[in-house]
Amino acid sequence: MDPYTAEFGFELRTCRWAELAWPPGTDSTSDETAIIVARQLGTKRRRWDTIVLECDPETLRRRANFGPKRLDSDLLHVLRNAPAEWAYYRDALPHPGYPWRYVREAIHTAADRGILETRRSGNRIEIRRKWTYPDWLERVVAIENKPDLDASAARTLGSQLEYDVAMELADEVWVATRQTGERVEPALFEDLPIEAGILSLEPDPLTAEVAWHPRSLAVDEPGTRILERPDGGKRDGSAARFEFVNPDWKADKRLAIAERAYERGWRSFVDTMRPDCRHFQLRARDAHQALPYCAAKGRCQTAAECSGSCGDFEPEPPAWRTRGWPIEGGPGKRSQRILEARRRRRRPGL
Ligand code: SF4
Repeated sequence: MDPYTAEFGFELRTCRWAELAWPPGTDSTSDETAIIVARQLGTKRRRWDTIVLECDPETLRRRANFGPKRLDSDLLHVLRNAPAEWAYYRDALPHPGYPWRYVREAIHTAADRGILETRRSGNRIEIRRKWTYPDWLERVVAIENKPDLDASAARTLGSQLEYDVAMELADEVWVATRQTGERVEPALFEDLPIEAGILSLEPDPLTAEVAWHPRSLAVDEPGTRILERPDGGKRDGSAARFEFVNPDWKADKRLAIAERAYERGWRSFVDTMRPDCRHFQLRARDAHQALPYCAAKGRCQTAAECSGSCGDFEPEPPAWRTRGWPIEGGPGKRSQRILEARRRRRRPGL
């Protein structure tokens, strides 16, 4: 069975293509932009399939000083404002807008992670930065994956993309759809916002062409959040509801998404699957990509299927784990380690 008819297999190929070839149409061997690819991140209301972060290579390398784990908003507040010389934390940091006890907790977490210096002066905590938190994120690109973009998929996708275009949280939004080989890609005839780019991607061999170029969105300007829209057909005269979104909120949200992407990458899919199931396999698609494969289902399973509630789940037999077990684990653990090593190789400086 073709592993790419399901969105999940296609999505993983899009991630791999982005890692190799982003930005489209340029010489990706140039060193001017570093790329981080992640998947299934966004806001409470809207989650993007694939996220590409375009970064400055030098500042991205300096981000590695802070370790592979994400920095949440409390930690960022401390680390971005930490002084170069020792100072009482309440004098050094701007008021966070929430109780200081949460700041103290973040200071202890940062000290435990070795990314902030702290000392006691009487009963006061003083802090000093180890490194300046770098401005490593340049652009955020969101890609929706629809291998089979028929009219009904396009309708749903159209309203999601309108939401993204109005909000202007990502610098660019794209749809990746499977190459059809037709002279004009059918996706161009669908009713999608003209600001969204269209990428036609062939998963095997991994190639892509730009069918429609996107417009850059004004991420530094106030955005518009669409709360509700009339959906009662052509005769529905009810009003849509909107609210404005402050650019500062957008900047914080972009960095929060970027930090999560930095931690997770796109190979973390295995974290939510069951590599400890005897039917779980990783099958190589090229020298650097392995896709999950379920021997019981005879195809690439989705992350949602491959969970504790899967009817075909069977634990790995203990005999598979005898060598080095329980420290090294069986084949499932080995799959996790391979993916983790590949993820780290993609973070310069780690
Ligand atoms: S049988 Fe179920 S749990 Fe096991 S690998 Fe397949 S989908 Fe995952």
